[in-house]
Amino acid sequence: MHNRIGRRAFLTGAGAVAALGALDACRLLPGSGRTHSQPTLQLSPLRASVDRITRITVCTRPFRAEGPRLEVEKVGAKTVVHNYGHGGSGWSLSWGSGAIATAHAMATGERDIAVIGCGALGLTTALQLQRAGARVTIYARELPPDVRSSLATGLYTPDSRICLEKHATPAFKQTWQQMARQTFDTYQSFLGLAGTPVEFIDSYAVYDDAANRRRGAADARPAFAELQRELTGDLIPRSADFQPGSHSLGQRWLQRNTQLMFNLTTYTRTLLADFAANGGRIEIAEFHAPGEFARLKEKTLINATGYGARALFGDQSVIPVRGQLTRMIPQADVSYGLFYRNVSFVPRRDGLVFQVVGDNDYYGYGDDTTVPDRAEAERAVNSIASLFAAT
Ligand SMILES: Cc1cc2nc3c(=O)[nH]c(=O)nc-3n(C[C@H](O)[C@H](O)[C@H](O)COP(=O)(O)OP(=O)(O)OC[C@H]3O[C@@H](n4cnc5c(N)ncnc54)[C@H](O)[C@@H]3O)c2cc1C
Repeated sequence: MHNRIGRRAFLTGAGAVAALGALDACRLLPGSGRTHSQPTLQLSPLRASVDRITRITVCTRPFRAEGPRLEVEKVGAKTVVHNYGHGGSGWSLSWGSGAIATAHAMATGERDIAVIGCGALGLTTALQLQRAGARVTIYARELPPDVRSSLATGLYTPDSRICLEKHATPAFKQTWQQMARQTFDTYQSFLGLAGTPVEFIDSYAVYDDAANRRRGAADARPAFAELQRELTGDLIPRSADFQPGSHSLGQRWLQRNTQLMFNLTTYTRTLLADFAANGGRIEIAEFHAPGEFARLKEKTLINATGYGARALFGDQSVIPVRGQLTRMIPQADVSYGLFYRNVSFVPRRDGLVFQVVGDNDYYGYGDDTTVPDRAEAERAVNSIASLFAAT
């Protein structure tokens, strides 16, 4: 999720500090014959105000200290392939993770396969099973837009709360890299489609002074793994810096990064349509214990129940990490993101997203409450709105 990009990609952007001061805000005005200082970067003013809030949503990331569970387990006569526990990276690792689950499932020799769950992991695994030649039925308690995946920020953030640093073994890193690269690659095939399910955006980390650029609150608890820059740095476009006077956001320092953004409404509908077009079936079903899988006709199942696996499989290693989004009326002329004072803004076409991300990845950790916090929502909006107040 976005805070990783905010605190990590933005704060550690290649050449961040070195490039400061390299920009020249003076331009020769056409026809004037003189130089005049003017902003070189003009961002369309964002209409951020609390009266424009349309929705406040809360969901829990399914975090596991050891990373996602991608194992094969026998449950009675059924073979269950687990594919859950992707923390804040579910959308960003979905295709690669689904590919691994697909390989496990196809290796059983079965060609009628059940997928339990219709979130990011269930949908992308189901599609890959179809492409591998399987007949697939999705069984799920909820469907999009009522799944947790539909309440995500919508950015490519493949190492966000994916595991603790101490569990990022060489073998884990290899698997993670494979998942991250394959997913990034697959997202490219969704660029330029009607409804813009996926697009690249520019995002600006904004600082009140140059000195606070490398801020990050210390925490005595075990560190979360940071893998993106180390293992897939070649997928991250170079950042650019803007000093005061070279942009339209006042006396502040900006760092621009380019990110992959998912407009989840269109993207999810695209996935559902593809699944149906390939002959996929969906049944609403709730399972209270793994033994209930016995009633399904399929012998091979993918368990893509996300946070639901904690209750369904009694897997206490799935830790909830609460995250709240504040949605706002879309604004067509705003296609850039912002990160300012631990608040992220993402210009989703299906509703602008504001989010307090806290000082570090422990923000929301262990909290499974889903009651919206209006005060936090207004804080997020007001913080971003302050960037546009009389600049
Ligand atoms: C605030 C927030 C922002 C995020 N932002 C991003 C982001 O920008 N990028 C990113 O990559 N990730 C992000 N994430 C993480 C991402 O949303 C999750 O990793 C992802 O949604 C997990 O998907 P899933 O398919 O495993 O689970 P879910 O979306 O929860 O889907 C689980 C499915 O299983 C079904 N199910 C569960 N239990 C049962 C049961 N007992 N019986 C039958 N069906 C059941 C559900 O109904 C559902 O269909 C964010 C998460 C949060 C909370």
